[in-house]
Amino acid sequence: MQRWNGWGETKRTYHLPLAACAYLEELLGAGVHTPDADFQTSLNAVPPSRLPDHPLFSTDDKARLLHARGQSLPDWIALRSGKIENFPDGVATPETGDDVREILGFAQDIGCSLIPYGGGTSVVGHINPLPGDRPSLTVDMRHMNQLLNLDEESRLATFSAGVTGPEIEAQLKPHGYTLGHFPQSWELSTLGGWIATRSSGQQSYRYGRIEDLFAGGTMETPLGRIQLRSLPASAAGPDLRQLILGSEGRLGVITQAEVRVRPLPEEELFFGAFFRDWESGVEAMRSLAQANAPISLARLSDPLETETTLALAGRERLITFADYGLRLLGHGVGRTLLIYGITGTHGFVSSARQEVSALLRRCGGLPVGTMIGHQWKKSRFYTPYLRNTLWDQGYALDTLETALPWRGVDAARAEVIQSIELAFQSEGSRTLVFSHLSHIYADGASLYITYIFPIGVDLEQTLHIWRTAKHAASVRIIANGGTISHQHGVGIDHLTYMKDEKGTIGLRLLEGARKALDPQGILNPGKGWPCS
Ligand SMILES: Cc1cc2nc3c(=O)[nH]c(=O)nc-3n(C[C@H](O)[C@H](O)[C@H](O)COP(=O)(O)OP(=O)(O)OC[C@H]3O[C@@H](n4cnc5c(N)ncnc54)[C@H](O)[C@@H]3O)c2cc1C
Repeated sequence: MQRWNGWGETKRTYHLPLAACAYLEELLGAGVHTPDADFQTSLNAVPPSRLPDHPLFSTDDKARLLHARGQSLPDWIALRSGKIENFPDGVATPETGDDVREILGFAQDIGCSLIPYGGGTSVVGHINPLPGDRPSLTVDMRHMNQLLNLDEESRLATFSAGVTGPEIEAQLKPHGYTLGHFPQSWELSTLGGWIATRSSGQQSYRYGRIEDLFAGGTMETPLGRIQLRSLPASAAGPDLRQLILGSEGRLGVITQAEVRVRPLPEEELFFGAFFRDWESGVEAMRSLAQANAPISLARLSDPLETETTLALAGRERLITFADYGLRLLGHGVGRTLLIYGITGTHGFVSSARQEVSALLRRCGGLPVGTMIGHQWKKSRFYTPYLRNTLWDQGYALDTLETALPWRGVDAARAEVIQSIELAFQSEGSRTLVFSHLSHIYADGASLYITYIFPIGVDLEQTLHIWRTAKHAASVRIIANGGTISHQHGVGIDHLTYMKDEKGTIGLRLLEGARKALDPQGILNPGKGWPCS
């Protein structure tokens, strides 16, 4: 069963070692756990639906509560405090593209808004119903989760768009293929959600981002069905796939997607390497990307993230022993940890391993084998469960991210971290802010910031501090020439920064497309880009 007010399966818990609790308490003070609103109380707060009964959807209170919020920090605060405020008036679970068409027709007839819903893992408010007189209907795509066709000759697989990460891999594996798209939310997020938010998987360096994997597909719009043929390349004018990618449910409901798949690799290994300081680690990341190194993943933690990762990992004796060895080799205070992956045939992995080790050594790195990389692999989808445990201990964890050219990475990182620290300080609170570079390109990298802070007794105040910090960080990101989002998308939390990113004419273009496809403005209003 899935948690209704936190992350993931109820039966899975992230156990925080005692030493890690002491580490957090020392840096942030003791966390105060405010009691959570219970499920029944929140259920009782669901107002009557404004939609008529209809065979296409349910107006059941429980379904409406479970689709009211996603995974952003404001969502967590709403769910934990019981102040959820807005609920969808109904939840549809279509099984076919024709069902989706019918639902769209119903929404057009009565003028209700439609919120396409994949796994509900949005961290920026994508799927939240907004206040207003218009009823809203959430379209949960979970029943549309099948592999429909596999063209092995072209290595193209067609799926219904509500298919989750594990369902994709389970259906491809018997045929010997993988999609290789592994966002950290992989357990719950869906193909349609990935496309609609331009998601990035952890091994994007090998497999590409979702825009590289999405070859074509079908989207139902109020104007009619858009069907995009999969083509290896095309010069026939602007690429319409790019309009669907990142459309955040504003232009239509993606019902099917054809994606580029690859044979399952013979072998995949993950490694660790240490650098004496952040600067040499960044240089190594840039060298890896610009040398087109044979890796599948590269993730460089800054010094504080490196220490926090080691502290939260537990296994104290092993860590103390490794720590001693690293210090002897000159990798003490200020060290940074690189996790990298190599994927392919046995022969390829073996030769690539040597090539990459040599490159890292030339950059001052100390490759330390597969133990740390193996641990990372084991916990890659488990780490999000830490958020539940931290909350129960009285701490909130949130993340934000950007991407920018190499020349701006260091300054942006320093300024964003400082802006978050200052925002918390100015409100008399503390925070632990750390970062990593997670996706690298020849011309730049994505910067991912995590911050942990004590939850106040007053959750309204916690929300206020979060807003202050989020805005301060967003302003620094934009001032440094970064994108407001490398992978999480826009939703509602990044809406006000879209003008800086796209410009007035860019926004008019997007609105033009929206008005052409959805003149009544029924699709996920208030998300993605401002309405004109
Ligand atoms: C713990 C955690 C880790 C995460 N890690 C990553 C990561 O590594 N990389 C990354 O990119 N993101 C990550 N995210 C963010 C999130 O998982 C992604 O944005 C993901 O792509 C959302 O997919 P979803 O199916 O849950 O979509 P939802 O959250 O349900 O919806 C997101 C948006 O897509 C639209 N949408 C969904 N399905 C359709 C459809 N069929 N047709 C049209 N529109 C649709 C919705 O209307 C909404 O606007 C993470 C989130 C969490 C909570």
